[in-house]
Amino acid sequence: MALREIRIQGDPILEKPSRPLEKMTPRMETLIMDMIETMEEADGVGLAAPQVGVLRQIAVINVDGENTYVFINPEILEQEGEQTGDEGCLSVPGKVGTVTRPERVRVRALDIHMQPFELEAEELLARACCHEFDHLKGVIYTSKVSGPLRDVRYDTEEESQEEEA
Ligand SMILES: [Zn+2]
Repeated sequence: MALREIRIQGDPILEKPSRPLEKMTPRMETLIMDMIETMEEADGVGLAAPQVGVLRQIAVINVDGENTYVFINPEILEQEGEQTGDEGCLSVPGKVGTVTRPERVRVRALDIHMQPFELEAEELLARACCHEFDHLKGVIYTSKVSGPLRDVRYDTEEESQEEEA
């Protein structure tokens, strides 16, 4: 596995839609493993393939430090409720903004073995799904922020980990 360079807002690739993945290849498997490692190294809760320069519909998410989900060709089947909270992005370092997202989503995707699965996600996992799947459409969360984009403020060194996706 290897770390990949995370593209930063302003890079045109972040605003392009990704293509579906039709079959798993060793190259794509390596990409997914690299994405997971890159997300962990950056202390992110999610990462989408365009953020490492690959326009394929692949996202990885881990919001609890335990369960890593791989989503290939994901779609949101249903959404319910509303949550409003702060969001950050590894492609928009040092910033945070308030975004309203569904409280719950039902997702269908393929896993790394290209097997279909469905997932009911709520709270932070639902937010992360919406954020990452937006990346696959070329949408960055900053276009959905209400109010100003703010600088991340660190109260103490120990508290300097923001959740970024
Ligand atoms: Zn992001």
